[in-house]
Parts: sequence; C-alpha cells; structure tokens
Amino acid sequence: MKLTKEPITVAAIINGEKIHTEKKIQRENPTHPNEIVGYAPNNTREETIQAIDAAFNAFKTWAWTDVDDRINRMRTAIQKIKDATPEIAELLSREHGKALYDSQGEIAISLMWMEFACDHVKKVTAPETMEHENGKTIITHDPIGVVSAITPWNYPLSLSTIKIAPALLTGNTMVLKPSPLAPLAVSRVTEIIADEFPPGVLNLVNGDAEVGVELTSNEKVAKIAFTGGTKTAKHIMKAASDTIKKMTLELGGNDAAIVLEDFDVNDERALRRMVISNFLTAGQICMIAKRVYVHRSIYDAFVEKYIEAANKWIRVGDPFNPDVTVGPVNNKNQVDYVKSLIEDAKSKGAKVIPLGTILNPELMENGYFLQPTLVLDADYQDPIVVEEQFGPTVPILPFDDEEQVIELHNESIYGLTSSVWGEQEHAISVARRIEAGTTMINTAAVQGLDVRFPFGGVKQSGVGREYGEDGIKSYTETHVINLPNNLELPYIPE
Ligand code: NAD
Repeated sequence: MKLTKEPITVAAIINGEKIHTEKKIQRENPTHPNEIVGYAPNNTREETIQAIDAAFNAFKTWAWTDVDDRINRMRTAIQKIKDATPEIAELLSREHGKALYDSQGEIAISLMWMEFACDHVKKVTAPETMEHENGKTIITHDPIGVVSAITPWNYPLSLSTIKIAPALLTGNTMVLKPSPLAPLAVSRVTEIIADEFPPGVLNLVNGDAEVGVELTSNEKVAKIAFTGGTKTAKHIMKAASDTIKKMTLELGGNDAAIVLEDFDVNDERALRRMVISNFLTAGQICMIAKRVYVHRSIYDAFVEKYIEAANKWIRVGDPFNPDVTVGPVNNKNQVDYVKSLIEDAKSKGAKVIPLGTILNPELMENGYFLQPTLVLDADYQDPIVVEEQFGPTVPILPFDDEEQVIELHNESIYGLTSSVWGEQEHAISVARRIEAGTTMINTAAVQGLDVRFPFGGVKQSGVGREYGEDGIKSYTETHVINLPNNLELPYIPE
C-alpha cells in the first residue's frame, strides 16, 4: 500500500523559464513523515521581484490579446491537466495526506471551474454600448494588471486554479505562490498552464512569508487574490495599503450546522451528508461545518444516530487504501493545535467520543493522524466551539429556540458558509436570518458547492467573491468612455 518513490523536484517559473534554486523547501509525506515526497524552490525576495517584473512587462501585450486566443490556450491546458489527473492526484495525496478519491475530486472541481471561466469570460467582459439622451456611453471591463495569488495548503489545486483561470482569461498576468505545506502538485498544474501561455503571463514562486510580503507590497502588483487564514490577511491588508491594491480575500470560517426540531433523525442519507460535511479532508476545509447546534427536543436521538452514521462512513488510514475515507492531517503543527483544543475542552468537563474505524493502525503512531472525535457538553464559548479547529473533530451542542441559535451563529466573527437542516421551508426561513456568504439546506460543505455561483465570506471570513460570473468580473476594472452630445454644462458661467 505504501508508495515509495524517488522525491521529485519542482521548479519556479519566471518569465517562462524553469528556475531551480539551491535552497529548497522539503515536503514530507504526512502518512509516512520519514519519506520525502519532493522539493520546491525556496525563492528569495529578489527572485520574487524578478517574477513580478516579468508579469508587469508581459501585461503590456497580454492585456490586449484576443479573448478567443486566451480561451483556446486555457482549454488546451485543461485537456492536459485532465490527461495528467492520475499522476497529479497521486502526488497530491502523497504530499497532502488527503485520500486519493478526495484528490481526484479536487482536480475535478478545478477543471469544472476552469471550463466555466472559459465558457463565461466573453459574456462577462463584453463591452456595453448605450445610446441615451445625453449621447453615447461605452463601458468596458478591462484587466487590472499584475495579480499576486497566494494560496493555502488544504486545497492547493482548486484554490490556485480558481484564481489563475479568471485572471489570465480576462487579460491579467500573475505571480502565484502556493503554501510550502503542499507546493508540489500545484507546481505541476501551474507548469502545465504556464507552458500554454506566453512567457511572463503566469509565473510561479515558492516560499513563505518573506515572498508573501513582497507579493503584497510591491508597487507593480495591482491586485491580490489571497486564500488563507484571517490573521495572515490582516498583515496582507496592511502591506497592500501603501499602494491601494485591489483585493479578494477568502479567509477562515467557523461554519455552523443548525439542526431544527423537524429534522428527521432517521434520515440516514442526511446524516451521512452531515458526517461528510464535518470530516471530509480530515476536517481541513474552510467551508466544513465546525460546530453543530441541535434542537434540544431531538438532541439525544440525533447524537445517537450521528455516531452510528459517523462510525459507518469514517474509515481512517492510508490515503491510497481504497476503503479509507479520512487520511492524516497535513502537518504536525495542525495535529498539535487540534489536540490542544480537544484537551482544553476535556479539562473543562466535555465528553470526547472517538468515531470511525482505524484501518491502518500501524500508521497511527508516526503519521500525522488524529482519531476523529465528537465533543459533547462543551460550553458555547469554549475555544473548540468558537475557534476554527481545521481538523477531524466537531462539537455538538443543544439549543432551545431559534432566536438563541441564530444569535449563537451570528455572534461569530466569521461568516463563510453555514447549513440548516430540517423541513425545507422552515430551514429557508432560518437561513434568511443567518450572516454568511453561503447557506446550504440539508447539506453542507463541498457537497453544496456549485462553481456557477459566487462564493466568499462576510465579516472576517473575507472580502469579495470567487466562482460564478462575479468571480470572473473581480479580475476586471470598469472603464466608462463617455461621448456626451452636449459638451457644455449650463451652470458653468461664460
Ligand atoms: P495561512 O494564512 O497560514 O497561509 C496562506 C498562505 O499565505 C500561504 O501561502 C503562506 O505562505 C502565505 N503567507 C504567510 N504569511 C504571509 C504574509 N505575511 N504575507 C503574505 N503571505 C503570507 O493559511 P493556511 O494555514 O495555509 O490555510 C488554512 C487557512 O486558510 C484556514 O484559516 C482556512 O479556513 C483558510 N481557507 C479559506 C478558504 C476560503 O475559501 N475562504 C479556503 C481554504 C482555506
């Protein structure tokens, strides 16, 4: 089952050239931490500036290219990524730890979005011409310039392609910096795309905060497209303020699932969807349900049925074991953080219930594994409830009435996604009062995601939207060209 392979080395891409550096980021396999999956360059600030300069120079011509040419290039890249899916999915599971089906799913979502962006870019950017009583107005949707894209480790491919496709299709150029905790598969995908475009249009650098600071403060960068933690976004906003950059920020969440009294606790498929929405990718998804509130009248029955459903679906082990649904956590820091939240809740009297089956017990000691758990009897304000755990644990808490649960939901500093479970019309009426970018009814997390519609957070979960036509438009500036009939204004004196 263990795939032992020679470590691979990926390159930076600057102005169309593949650059290898002496200093490297080493990425281990979270399932077998002694195994090195590969190396990415640890780029310097100077190399980052070179990449930004390359993007800046390329923009001068790329901005004026024909949109059909851009679409054709992107479609060729889509086909090449499709063809390489088995190799990329395997690499992603090895460096990230997510189960193989999950990596394949991530590639499928990336491709679906790239295709949507190709299909819709012409509609979104078509100039509008209006004849009116004061003359004529032309409104164009122009590219912005150099985009710095900075992405996290949990969904490295989809969160990078969500930025690359609309940026390039609308005539921008880009420098992408993935997370050092999952840099390999995304570098492969970026290389495939960059090869289809002129030098400098899509550049890739690797590294951590030092590279990130250059990408977010350099005056040649016009827009930042960032996905990651809310704390990091606060640094980015400060760094970008000197040159007033445009920004899309997709940040952390503490998404809630609200289970109403009319939810059918015997609906096994619904319970399965709920469990998946808590434990897919070992809970390391921004839009996963991280706290579950259940109406007190059905609380005990719900908990019993939830545990049954969780024990059926959760099978922990090697990502390459086809029976496994939950792999290891991506990195040791995350394991320690999630453990500390669970220990804290336990010390205050919470009950911690292990869930699922361990299929590969031999891996548990050395790999970055955490047994999935359910936390009962936590306090509403405990860190395990109010913080983003980003791991395989979830607290379930009772509520007494809708006013209380809506307040508990909305008092969070976050508002990314949420879900309401119960009779449909009732659930919609509760959903309408919830502060979140997306609310799903009787499903949650990626199961309810649709790339055709805008995605993003309210409050400290983000600024702007990705996906949907809004996600394409966010890479354009509106330019109004006015041709008034009457060139003289009546109130200006002779
Ligand atoms: P992170 O904020 O630690 O890192 C994200 C990226 O920022 C990495 O590439 C990192 O190298 C870079 N970075 C670090 N310091 C920087 C700085 N000072 N300037 C510029 N860049 C810097 O996040 P993470 O731990 O990789 O990812 C997990 C977080 O991402 C969670 O909070 C999760 O909710 C969030 N997330 C949000 C979404 C969404 O769509 N809203 C999606 C996925 C993940």
